[in-house]
Amino acid sequence: MIRKLALVTGASSGIGRKYATFLANSGYDIIAVARRENLLESLATELKEFGAQTKVVLADLSTDVGVQIVIDAAKDVDFLVLNAGITRAARVGETSAEELKGLNTLLATGVVEICEAIIPRMVSRKTGDVVIVSSIAAFISMPKSALYAAAKTYVMAYGRSINTELRRTGVRVCVVCPGYVRTEIHKNAGLDHLTKRVPSWMWVSTDSVVRSAQNGLKRNKSVVVPGLVYRFARPFMKLTIARKFWRRVTRRN
Ligand code: NDP
Repeated sequence: MIRKLALVTGASSGIGRKYATFLANSGYDIIAVARRENLLESLATELKEFGAQTKVVLADLSTDVGVQIVIDAAKDVDFLVLNAGITRAARVGETSAEELKGLNTLLATGVVEICEAIIPRMVSRKTGDVVIVSSIAAFISMPKSALYAAAKTYVMAYGRSINTELRRTGVRVCVVCPGYVRTEIHKNAGLDHLTKRVPSWMWVSTDSVVRSAQNGLKRNKSVVVPGLVYRFARPFMKLTIARKFWRRVTRRN
């Protein structure tokens, strides 16, 4: 069997690690991108079980240099998962210009730069799959996380539009917008309290995120929301009662 090639950003943990594992098990060799080399090396060892070769690429995607490293590494990939990210809890005015630039590069502009460089190559080969990991934050206001919500909305809007633009080119694009997923992201952002405050029925698994994105690609959906609860709730998210509930359970301290 000839294996295809996938690049996954943020492959060292959480959703990215699960996606890399899924793709390795589905016949892809993997280019695994993140900053923590030890975790990427342990992933590479794990993926051997599926007969996959894994190339570890270290890149800080909050920098232009890191984005260029990924563009160079992704030239011939069949599958691109743009997932790396952090969340940030901060009131308006609390983020320095430098932090803001890094956050935007990581979550928004860097993602688009990679797409702009790599998707035309997929189009010329008439094949390719792209998954962009956005967030439910693209659909609802997020007090004290406005920069995160704005960046996730930017990539959602971009992915949704290119999905339509690329129909009949052989290249499929799907934006996946998860709600709460149990990963390292909340602890790393000093939001550990949310793991207790947010009720268990509001958490979806990393498996569910991958499944939802894969179904989205298969059915050529531009945007998908994993988990029944969020799919059901999405049309009602503009209602005052839904917003009040969301603000209460997801409050940043
Ligand atoms: P994790 O913290 O478990 O994983 C984040 C991944 O991104 C890690 O592999 C990390 O690797 C990588 N990463 C973070 N910063 C950088 C950077 N500057 N350069 C390169 N890689 C980086 O969190 P999740 O799996 O939850 O997050 C994955 C994506 O899912 C994010 O985009 C997040 O916004 C999104 N998401 C998550 C939700 C959740 O509730 N968990 C909900 C909605 C969306 P390393 O530290 O080794 O560099």
